[in-house]
Amino acid sequence: MNLLNADLHCHSVVSDGTLQPEELALRAKTNGVALWSLTDHDEVGGQQRARDAAGAIGLDYLSGCEISVSFAGITVHIVGLGFDADDATLRDGLAATRGGRGERALEMSGELAKVGIKGAFDGALKYVGNPELISRTHFARYLVEIGTCSDTNEVFRHYLAEGKPGFVPHRWAALGNAVRWITGAGGLAVIAHPGRYKFTPTEEYALFTEFIAHGGRGVEVVTGSHTAAEYQKYADMALEFGLLASRGSDFHSPGESRTDLGALPDLPGKLTPVWSALQHRVQRASA
Ligand code: AMP
Ligand code: MN
Ligand code: MN
Ligand code: MN
Repeated sequence: MNLLNADLHCHSVVSDGTLQPEELALRAKTNGVALWSLTDHDEVGGQQRARDAAGAIGLDYLSGCEISVSFAGITVHIVGLGFDADDATLRDGLAATRGGRGERALEMSGELAKVGIKGAFDGALKYVGNPELISRTHFARYLVEIGTCSDTNEVFRHYLAEGKPGFVPHRWAALGNAVRWITGAGGLAVIAHPGRYKFTPTEEYALFTEFIAHGGRGVEVVTGSHTAAEYQKYADMALEFGLLASRGSDFHSPGESRTDLGALPDLPGKLTPVWSALQHRVQRASA
Protein backbone atom coordinates (compact mmCIF):
# COMPACT_ATOMS: atom_id res chain seq x y z
CA MET A 1 0.00 0.00 0.00
CA ASN A 2 2.85 2.42 0.81
CA LEU A 3 4.43 1.69 -2.56
CA LEU A 4 1.45 3.04 -4.51
CA ASN A 5 2.48 5.89 -6.81
CA ALA A 6 -0.07 8.31 -5.37
CA ASP A 7 0.25 12.01 -6.19
CA LEU A 8 -2.23 13.90 -4.03
CA HIS A 9 -1.14 17.51 -4.50
CA CYS A 10 -0.95 19.62 -7.67
CA HIS A 11 -2.40 22.75 -9.29
CA SER A 12 -4.16 23.64 -12.55
CA VAL A 13 -5.07 26.93 -14.26
CA VAL A 14 -8.10 26.97 -11.94
CA SER A 15 -5.62 28.28 -9.33
CA ASP A 16 -1.92 29.00 -9.95
CA GLY A 17 -0.84 26.11 -12.18
CA THR A 18 -0.28 26.52 -15.92
CA LEU A 19 -1.87 23.28 -17.22
CA GLN A 20 -5.54 22.40 -17.72
CA PRO A 21 -6.98 19.68 -15.45
CA GLU A 22 -7.13 17.35 -18.49
CA GLU A 23 -3.45 17.98 -19.28
CA LEU A 24 -2.51 17.21 -15.67
CA ALA A 25 -4.49 13.96 -15.70
CA LEU A 26 -2.65 12.83 -18.81
CA ARG A 27 0.73 13.87 -17.44
CA ALA A 28 0.05 12.00 -14.19
CA LYS A 29 -0.98 8.87 -16.07
CA THR A 30 2.06 9.09 -18.38
CA ASN A 31 4.35 9.47 -15.37
CA GLY A 32 2.96 6.31 -13.76
CA VAL A 33 0.71 7.85 -11.13
CA ALA A 34 -1.86 5.27 -9.91
CA LEU A 35 -3.95 7.52 -7.64
CA TRP A 36 -4.27 11.23 -8.38
CA SER A 37 -5.80 14.36 -6.86
CA LEU A 38 -6.01 17.91 -8.20
CA THR A 39 -5.72 20.26 -5.21
CA ASP A 40 -6.22 23.82 -6.45
CA HIS A 41 -5.86 26.63 -3.90
CA ASP A 42 -9.14 27.63 -2.20
CA GLU A 43 -11.20 26.32 -5.12
CA VAL A 44 -13.00 23.18 -6.29
CA GLY A 45 -14.00 24.57 -9.71
CA GLY A 46 -11.70 22.10 -11.51
CA GLN A 47 -12.85 18.97 -9.70
CA GLN A 48 -15.42 17.72 -12.18
CA ARG A 49 -13.04 18.15 -15.12
CA ALA A 50 -10.22 16.40 -13.24
CA ARG A 51 -12.49 13.53 -12.20
CA ASP A 52 -13.88 13.09 -15.73
CA ALA A 53 -10.43 13.27 -17.33
CA ALA A 54 -9.01 10.73 -14.87
CA GLY A 55 -11.95 8.39 -15.47
CA ALA A 56 -11.52 8.62 -19.23
CA ILE A 57 -7.86 7.50 -19.14
CA GLY A 58 -8.09 4.85 -16.42
CA LEU A 59 -6.66 6.80 -13.49
CA ASP A 60 -8.05 6.45 -9.96
CA TYR A 61 -9.09 9.81 -8.55
CA LEU A 62 -9.68 11.51 -5.18
CA SER A 63 -11.26 14.98 -4.94
CA GLY A 64 -8.91 17.62 -3.57
CA CYS A 65 -8.23 21.23 -2.63
CA GLU A 66 -5.61 23.21 -0.70
CA ILE A 67 -7.02 25.75 1.75
CA SER A 68 -5.10 28.86 2.84
CA VAL A 69 -5.18 29.23 6.63
CA SER A 70 -3.73 31.80 9.04
CA PHE A 71 -2.23 30.23 12.16
CA ALA A 72 -0.08 32.08 14.70
CA GLY A 73 0.45 34.87 12.18
CA ILE A 74 1.76 32.54 9.47
CA THR A 75 0.06 31.21 6.34
CA VAL A 76 -0.43 27.45 6.56
CA HIS A 77 -1.93 25.24 3.84
CA ILE A 78 -4.39 22.47 4.61
CA VAL A 79 -5.07 19.90 1.89
CA GLY A 80 -8.51 18.29 1.78
CA LEU A 81 -8.93 14.90 0.11
CA GLY A 82 -11.89 12.70 -0.76
CA PHE A 83 -14.65 15.19 0.09
CA ASP A 84 -17.95 15.76 -1.71
CA ALA A 85 -17.07 18.69 -4.01
CA ASP A 86 -20.72 19.77 -4.12
CA ASP A 87 -20.95 20.28 -0.35
CA ALA A 88 -22.47 23.76 0.18
CA THR A 89 -20.64 24.60 3.43
CA LEU A 90 -17.28 23.70 1.90
CA ARG A 91 -18.02 25.73 -1.24
CA ASP A 92 -19.14 28.76 0.80
CA GLY A 93 -16.05 28.52 2.99
CA LEU A 94 -13.75 28.37 -0.03
CA ALA A 95 -15.55 31.32 -1.68
CA ALA A 96 -15.06 33.37 1.50
CA THR A 97 -11.37 32.38 1.63
CA ARG A 98 -10.89 33.48 -2.01
CA GLY A 99 -12.78 36.70 -1.33
CA GLY A 100 -9.96 39.01 -0.33
CA ARG A 101 -7.58 38.08 -3.14
CA GLY A 102 -8.56 40.83 -5.60
CA GLU A 103 -8.04 43.64 -3.10
CA ARG A 104 -4.80 42.07 -1.84
CA ALA A 105 -3.51 41.92 -5.41
CA LEU A 106 -4.25 45.63 -5.94
CA GLU A 107 -2.36 46.41 -2.73
CA MET A 108 0.55 44.22 -3.84
CA SER A 109 0.64 46.13 -7.12
CA GLY A 110 0.74 49.41 -5.19
CA GLU A 111 3.63 48.20 -3.05
CA LEU A 112 5.56 46.99 -6.10
CA ALA A 113 5.00 50.37 -7.80
CA LYS A 114 6.78 52.00 -4.84
CA VAL A 115 9.95 50.07 -5.75
CA GLY A 116 9.63 51.00 -9.42
CA ILE A 117 7.65 48.06 -10.80
CA LYS A 118 4.63 49.60 -12.52
CA GLY A 119 1.48 47.91 -13.82
CA ALA A 120 1.98 44.66 -11.93
CA PHE A 121 -1.74 44.11 -11.32
CA ASP A 122 -2.61 44.15 -15.04
CA GLY A 123 0.55 42.20 -15.80
CA ALA A 124 -0.30 39.47 -13.30
CA LEU A 125 -3.87 39.36 -14.57
CA LYS A 126 -2.64 38.14 -17.97
CA TYR A 127 -1.54 34.91 -16.27
CA VAL A 128 -4.73 34.38 -14.29
CA GLY A 129 -7.00 31.52 -15.36
CA ASN A 130 -9.65 32.11 -12.70
CA PRO A 131 -10.49 35.76 -11.91
CA GLU A 132 -11.29 34.83 -8.30
CA LEU A 133 -7.89 33.35 -7.82
CA ILE A 134 -5.18 35.90 -8.46
CA SER A 135 -2.15 34.74 -6.49
CA ARG A 136 1.44 35.71 -5.82
CA THR A 137 2.45 33.12 -8.40
CA HIS A 138 0.81 35.18 -11.16
CA PHE A 139 2.77 38.26 -10.07
CA ALA A 140 5.94 36.16 -10.06
CA ARG A 141 5.34 35.09 -13.68
CA TYR A 142 4.84 38.71 -14.76
CA LEU A 143 8.02 39.85 -13.01
CA VAL A 144 9.95 37.13 -14.85
CA GLU A 145 8.32 38.26 -18.12
CA ILE A 146 9.52 41.85 -17.69
CA GLY A 147 13.01 40.70 -16.71
CA THR A 148 12.96 41.80 -13.06
CA CYS A 149 14.17 38.30 -12.08
CA SER A 150 15.22 35.25 -14.04
CA ASP A 151 12.81 32.78 -12.42
CA THR A 152 9.76 32.76 -10.14
CA ASN A 153 11.72 31.45 -7.17
CA GLU A 154 13.97 34.49 -7.31
CA VAL A 155 10.89 36.77 -7.50
CA PHE A 156 9.57 35.23 -4.29
CA ARG A 157 12.93 35.60 -2.56
CA HIS A 158 13.36 39.26 -3.50
CA TYR A 159 9.82 40.61 -3.82
CA LEU A 160 6.99 38.40 -2.61
CA ALA A 161 8.06 36.58 0.55
CA GLU A 162 7.19 38.00 3.97
CA GLY A 163 9.16 41.17 4.67
CA LYS A 164 9.86 41.84 0.97
CA PRO A 165 8.55 44.93 -0.90
CA GLY A 166 5.56 43.27 -2.62
CA PHE A 167 4.36 41.23 0.36
CA VAL A 168 0.97 42.25 1.74
CA PRO A 169 -0.14 40.47 4.94
CA HIS A 170 -3.46 38.73 4.56
CA ARG A 171 -5.91 37.00 6.89
CA TRP A 172 -6.97 33.60 5.50
CA ALA A 173 -9.37 30.99 6.93
CA ALA A 174 -9.18 29.82 10.56
CA LEU A 175 -7.57 26.39 11.03
CA GLY A 176 -10.64 24.87 12.71
CA ASN A 177 -12.97 26.11 9.95
CA ALA A 178 -10.82 24.72 7.14
CA VAL A 179 -10.62 21.32 8.83
CA ARG A 180 -14.37 21.30 9.50
CA TRP A 181 -15.29 22.28 5.93
CA ILE A 182 -13.27 19.29 4.68
CA THR A 183 -14.39 16.72 7.24
CA GLY A 184 -18.00 17.98 7.13
CA ALA A 185 -17.98 17.18 3.39
CA GLY A 186 -16.81 13.62 4.09
CA GLY A 187 -13.12 14.29 3.40
CA LEU A 188 -9.83 13.96 5.23
CA ALA A 189 -7.74 17.01 6.22
CA VAL A 190 -3.96 16.99 5.79
CA ILE A 191 -1.28 19.51 6.87
CA ALA A 192 0.48 20.48 3.62
CA HIS A 193 4.31 20.66 3.40
CA PRO A 194 4.94 21.37 7.13
CA GLY A 195 8.65 21.84 6.46
CA ARG A 196 7.93 25.11 4.63
CA TYR A 197 6.59 27.06 7.58
CA LYS A 198 8.88 29.21 9.66
CA PHE A 199 7.55 28.03 13.01
CA THR A 200 9.44 27.58 16.24
CA PRO A 201 9.25 23.99 17.59
CA THR A 202 6.62 25.17 20.10
CA GLU A 203 4.46 26.75 17.40
CA GLU A 204 4.80 23.68 15.19
CA TYR A 205 3.74 21.46 18.09
CA ALA A 206 0.73 23.75 18.63
CA LEU A 207 -0.21 23.51 14.94
CA PHE A 208 -0.17 19.71 15.00
CA THR A 209 -2.01 19.52 18.33
CA GLU A 210 -4.75 21.98 17.37
CA PHE A 211 -5.11 20.47 13.90
CA ILE A 212 -5.78 17.07 15.46
CA ALA A 213 -8.14 18.55 18.06
CA HIS A 214 -10.20 20.01 15.18
CA GLY A 215 -10.42 16.59 13.50
CA GLY A 216 -7.41 16.73 11.13
CA ARG A 217 -5.95 13.30 10.37
CA GLY A 218 -3.04 13.54 7.95
CA VAL A 219 0.29 15.19 7.20
CA GLU A 220 2.30 15.45 3.99
CA VAL A 221 5.58 13.64 4.49
CA VAL A 222 6.86 13.10 0.95
CA THR A 223 6.29 16.32 -1.01
CA GLY A 224 8.13 18.30 -3.66
CA SER A 225 8.56 20.99 -0.98
CA HIS A 226 10.57 18.80 1.45
CA THR A 227 14.22 17.85 1.63
CA ALA A 228 15.24 14.25 2.38
CA ALA A 229 15.90 15.26 6.00
CA GLU A 230 12.37 16.64 6.19
CA TYR A 231 10.92 13.34 4.89
CA GLN A 232 12.53 11.76 7.94
CA LYS A 233 11.50 14.47 10.38
CA TYR A 234 7.84 14.46 9.34
CA ALA A 235 7.70 10.68 9.11
CA ASP A 236 8.70 10.67 12.79
CA MET A 237 6.15 13.37 13.60
CA ALA A 238 3.39 11.46 11.77
CA LEU A 239 4.14 8.46 14.02
CA GLU A 240 4.43 10.61 17.15
CA PHE A 241 1.06 12.29 16.51
CA GLY A 242 -0.69 9.25 15.08
CA LEU A 243 -1.28 10.94 11.72
CA LEU A 244 -1.76 9.31 8.32
CA ALA A 245 0.95 10.18 5.79
CA SER A 246 0.40 11.82 2.40
CA ARG A 247 2.50 12.14 -0.73
CA GLY A 248 2.28 14.80 -3.44
CA SER A 249 4.50 16.68 -5.87
CA ASP A 250 2.83 20.14 -5.53
CA PHE A 251 3.38 20.36 -9.29
CA HIS A 252 2.42 23.76 -10.80
CA SER A 253 4.09 24.03 -14.19
CA PRO A 254 6.54 22.16 -16.43
CA GLY A 255 8.94 25.13 -16.48
CA GLU A 256 8.74 26.05 -12.82
CA SER A 257 8.24 23.01 -10.62
CA ARG A 258 11.27 21.05 -9.53
CA THR A 259 9.23 17.88 -8.88
CA ASP A 260 7.13 16.45 -11.70
CA LEU A 261 3.85 14.60 -11.15
CA GLY A 262 4.52 11.14 -9.71
CA ALA A 263 8.27 11.68 -9.45
CA LEU A 264 8.69 11.27 -5.70
CA PRO A 265 10.26 8.71 -3.37
CA ASP A 266 7.90 6.15 -1.83
CA LEU A 267 6.35 6.77 1.57
CA PRO A 268 8.49 5.18 4.30
CA GLY A 269 7.15 1.71 5.10
CA LYS A 270 6.52 2.39 8.78
CA LEU A 271 3.81 4.96 7.94
CA THR A 272 0.11 4.45 7.25
CA PRO A 273 -0.83 6.26 4.02
CA VAL A 274 -3.84 8.58 3.86
CA TRP A 275 -5.22 6.53 0.99
CA SER A 276 -5.69 3.53 3.29
CA ALA A 277 -8.42 5.56 5.02
CA LEU A 278 -9.91 6.91 1.77
CA GLN A 279 -10.56 3.75 -0.23
CA HIS A 280 -14.33 4.32 -0.13
CA ARG A 281 -13.85 7.85 -1.55
CA VAL A 282 -11.73 6.85 -4.56
CA GLN A 283 -13.32 7.16 -7.99
CA ARG A 284 -12.16 3.89 -9.54
CA ALA A 285 -11.22 3.80 -13.18
CA SER A 286 -11.98 0.54 -14.90
CA ALA A 287 -9.95 1.12 -18.09
P1 AMP B 1 -0.71 33.04 -2.47
O1 AMP B 1 -1.73 31.98 -2.17
O2 AMP B 1 -1.22 34.08 -3.42
O3 AMP B 1 -0.09 33.64 -1.24
O4 AMP B 1 0.47 32.32 -3.27
C1 AMP B 1 1.11 31.21 -2.72
C2 AMP B 1 1.76 30.38 -3.81
O5 AMP B 1 3.00 30.97 -4.18
C3 AMP B 1 2.15 28.99 -3.36
O6 AMP B 1 1.07 28.12 -3.48
C4 AMP B 1 3.23 28.63 -4.34
O7 AMP B 1 2.67 28.16 -5.54
C5 AMP B 1 3.88 29.96 -4.62
N1 AMP B 1 5.16 30.12 -3.87
C6 AMP B 1 5.31 30.40 -2.57
N2 AMP B 1 6.63 30.51 -2.26
C7 AMP B 1 7.31 30.28 -3.41
C8 AMP B 1 8.70 30.25 -3.77
N3 AMP B 1 9.66 30.50 -2.89
N4 AMP B 1 9.01 29.99 -5.07
C9 AMP B 1 8.05 29.75 -5.98
N5 AMP B 1 6.73 29.77 -5.70
C10 AMP B 1 6.37 30.04 -4.44
MN1 MN C 1 0.60 27.45 -5.53
MN1 MN D 1 0.99 25.02 -0.48
MN1 MN E 1 0.20 23.45 -3.41
